[in-house]
Amino acid sequence: MDEDDERRALVEEVRAHLEWEAEWSGFPVPEAELAAVAYPGTVSSSVSLAPAPPPAPTPVEQVAPGDRAGRLRVLATEAAACTRCRLHEGRHKSVFSRGSFDASVAFVGEGPGYNEDQQGEPFVGAAGQLLDKMIVAMGLTRDGVYVCNVVKCRPPENRTPLPDEAGACSPYLTQQIDIVKPQVIVALGRCAAENLGVAEAGRSWRGQWGAYRGIPVMPTYHPAYLLRSPEMKKPVWEDLQLVMQRIGLKKS
Ligand code: SF4
Repeated sequence: MDEDDERRALVEEVRAHLEWEAEWSGFPVPEAELAAVAYPGTVSSSVSLAPAPPPAPTPVEQVAPGDRAGRLRVLATEAAACTRCRLHEGRHKSVFSRGSFDASVAFVGEGPGYNEDQQGEPFVGAAGQLLDKMIVAMGLTRDGVYVCNVVKCRPPENRTPLPDEAGACSPYLTQQIDIVKPQVIVALGRCAAENLGVAEAGRSWRGQWGAYRGIPVMPTYHPAYLLRSPEMKKPVWEDLQLVMQRIGLKKS
């Protein structure tokens, strides 16, 4: 490729980027700006051929408050590109949520594991299958509840998220809960209970109502723990029955 070809390729790249950016943001790129990216022989000395930085995603505040699905989509897109904490370094896919934005119950777990990281969806492994059974046992449906985690990227070796990682990710969780506004949150595991502020020192962290942003929270054991300790299914079922009672579902 000679020098002219190389320059032509670069110019094409910049034009394509500007056109793509216009399409993405919904704002037209002024003709003058496109014209300034000229072909060899007419290249303006004021135009840099260095690749432009990617455009910032639409801030969630710019999506209509009533468009709850849209707001969650924007947040999920932000999380997919997020580098606020070190967990982004090892992620394959960020894992934002699954289920309905209109759910009466939200389940909040700790963080994605291997399967979730591969598929980009929370609770899809063995623990997820057990969670689904719990949901159905409550008289709810898999797609009718909202499911997410404290952190959206998989911690190495599935370790518990560190406080600074959970803190960096907390604005996503806060907004998810504010948008979905479930009647009840079920915190799955101590990490979720702590990060939702319902694991008070000096008392058992599970089985007792707390609140997160004004929403009742029932902390209970994580399904992954139940796979290792099936004898704990009984107390978890008792916790879930309290949730059912709270939202007016009949106890079996
Ligand atoms: S875990 Fe949360 S804060 Fe950390 S990189 Fe992923 S999305 Fe960003």
